[in-house]
Amino acid sequence: MRDLKHLYYFENLLQITNNDLISQAKSEGKKCVAYLCENTPEPLLNLAGCFGVRLFAPQTGSMDIATYYMTSLLCETCRALLERSIEGGFNFADCLIAPDGCTMINRCAENIELLRAMGKDNDHFFYEHMEVPLKADDNGVELLVLQCKNHILNPLHENYGIDVSEAAIREAVTLHNKVCRLIREIGDFRKEANPRITGYEFAILTLATYVCPKYLLIDKLTETLEELKTREPDENKYRARLLVVGSEMDDPGFIKLIEETGAYVCADRYCFGSLPGRDEIKLSDDEDALTSVCRHYVYECQCPRQMNMDKVYSRKQYINDLAREYGADGILYNQIKFCDPWAYEKALGSAILREKYDYPVLAVDRPYNINSSAGQMRTRVQAFIESIEIKNIQGRGKHGCD
Ligand code: SF4
Ligand code: SF4
Repeated sequence: MRDLKHLYYFENLLQITNNDLISQAKSEGKKCVAYLCENTPEPLLNLAGCFGVRLFAPQTGSMDIATYYMTSLLCETCRALLERSIEGGFNFADCLIAPDGCTMINRCAENIELLRAMGKDNDHFFYEHMEVPLKADDNGVELLVLQCKNHILNPLHENYGIDVSEAAIREAVTLHNKVCRLIREIGDFRKEANPRITGYEFAILTLATYVCPKYLLIDKLTETLEELKTREPDENKYRARLLVVGSEMDDPGFIKLIEETGAYVCADRYCFGSLPGRDEIKLSDDEDALTSVCRHYVYECQCPRQMNMDKVYSRKQYINDLAREYGADGILYNQIKFCDPWAYEKALGSAILREKYDYPVLAVDRPYNINSSAGQMRTRVQAFIESIEIKNIQGRGKHGCD
């Protein structure tokens, strides 16, 4: 296929944490709200006058200093983020919002704060730690509303004079939904039998919407969508279509590695992905916008921290629904090394998807930076693809697109 006109531009943005668009937004006088974890209601960080940036640590190498503070038993995502903050890689931020998505991300944020690894030269810099619900119910919505007021809206208003009114929140949701619509429309091309966008290209575009100011991406995303409408796909060359599932996946190199084995990544159910991360948020005239945003985050959440049994089972049903919608032949569960929530979710999910829903499933743990064990991972994915091909030859595979 012909290269996407802006792919190189998007790839470049993702090489460093303090990308050009962050510098541009800051030079326009906007405040940068850094955050951790998919449980943070993003539109509240994108009110007029500020913009949200989810922290990630591209090109991570040594994590020795973070390991000294957090031990080698804590997940590599958390250690990579702590290491990068100690190196000064997040000094562009004006505050840090950290929900207690899991205990490890908690420890990461606490260490960043105790070491004063962010915001040293900014008197208004603030750290906020939020409690997020363990259950998807209306009490959870109420809790999240309160937490958002106390730990996002009030501090933003008090420290930086950000307008946190109903009208301002509605405007921020409109911007959020615009980006979600673009990503979803682009992602829908992955359902085609002969797709006109690779899983790697899509992962690049989606990741950019988390780590760059959203309002500065709209032009190029819109142009990319228009370009895709007439892009000629290559002859179908894929050996199998895979749905990738897991926690934080902020390394498109992992998707590239999978596709280099001849597979096609047709759907992305991971944090930093589009499903459900780029679902639009519905507002109504009968409810205030903050409650609607929190309702969306509580009920659409696919994080294993939600432990009510109907949610535990509906997460697997959700994977099955996505696999059918995107025509996946197999499912790849991935867990960052030493991540506890996904160690359990991966074990249970892969068994249920294999036994109850009859999918071929590969369950792997992976390093934060895939380059540190690319050979081993490539071998495992290749073997998985071959097993799917054998099943297909035997007529036991292919659930097919709904
Ligand atoms: S898996 Fe859960 S705790 Fe971890 S980033 Fe995703 S939403 Fe947050
Ligand atoms: S990778 Fe797992 S342990 Fe680490 S922050 Fe995410 S959910 Fe928590």
